[in-house]
Amino acid sequence: MTPVRVHILTDGCPDFTDNANGTFTVHNALIGKGFHWHSRRSLTFKGTPEVIDGKLIETIDIEDYISSVIASEMNPDAPEEFLKAHAVISRSWVLGKVLRVHADLSSNGKCHTPNRIIDWNDTADHSGFDICNDDHCQRYQGLPSSEKRLLAARNATDATKGLILADRDGIVADARFSKCCGGKTEIFSTCWQDTDPHYLRSFADPHCDLSDMTEDEKNAFLSSVLNDYDRNTDLSHWYREVSSEAIKMRLNEVCDTSFDSLLSITPVAISSAGRIREMKFTFANGEITVGKELMIRRIFSDTHLLSAYFTIARDGDRYILDGKGWGHGVGLCQIGAARMALTGASFHEILSFYYPSAILKQI
Ligand SMILES: [Zn+2]
Ligand SMILES: [Zn+2]
Repeated sequence: MTPVRVHILTDGCPDFTDNANGTFTVHNALIGKGFHWHSRRSLTFKGTPEVIDGKLIETIDIEDYISSVIASEMNPDAPEEFLKAHAVISRSWVLGKVLRVHADLSSNGKCHTPNRIIDWNDTADHSGFDICNDDHCQRYQGLPSSEKRLLAARNATDATKGLILADRDGIVADARFSKCCGGKTEIFSTCWQDTDPHYLRSFADPHCDLSDMTEDEKNAFLSSVLNDYDRNTDLSHWYREVSSEAIKMRLNEVCDTSFDSLLSITPVAISSAGRIREMKFTFANGEITVGKELMIRRIFSDTHLLSAYFTIARDGDRYILDGKGWGHGVGLCQIGAARMALTGASFHEILSFYYPSAILKQI
């Protein structure tokens, strides 16, 4: 057994009941903190809970944790080969955290000068536990709602037991993933530390383009792969209109500045895939450049814009955003990978498509 220590986020002081059968129920668990699916739920977990410094920390076996992650990230009714691919990458990612092998990749970063704020947040501030249970790390929302779902997640975990992705030197890979890349995957440094693992590359992903499906086929596919609270989110192509005033207010709040009238917005650094890495905002009383991608997403929405993969045009006192994808786009694209499995790809084929130079390794 490899134990993992997980911080379960709660709304206020942890409120939980020990069910005396190896599980416990958290009555005020938080999911999607800061995102549009943010909610308070009652969730049941397998494992041993304890409260340390006001935080609910549980200790759970890594394979039990991975089963729950698969069922939290996606619907366990999704194609089996997709769930297996997810088990391998979720295992790789968490093992990297438990063994602390990605300290260089997991750092938080700040580069603040008067006219430039470049920020990124990873797991460097997780001390006293390995990971947290929210999207910041991997979604981990406890036991699935039915026996059937639990069995599907458990089968995918058991079928890939001990399999991980590794880099060229055999070191466990930092196997990132996101919901939908929108047609092109992203490199690591667009989102986090200025370093790029060889197995996380930018390339065209035709698999998450669902435009060849009828509406009925698309709805059936998305219902089978997404959890209920994810189903109303635009995935491949989206539009947003945001007022200059709203952008100014959020930017002042996020960057702790006091700019007045917004005059223009200019992307000043764009990744080769097309995501905005840095954006310049010019106001009547000054200008500021902001990055990286998550910071930009915070400025355009109270609950984070779906992605930084967008173009921007001005229309009077409003800005029109024409965007693609959901999430950072680095590594495996969950929608594309699920579609690959639906059309007959094995989990080996899915992994070698999304992590082209990584090695599948038994540990
Ligand atoms: Zn975390
Ligand atoms: Zn994709």
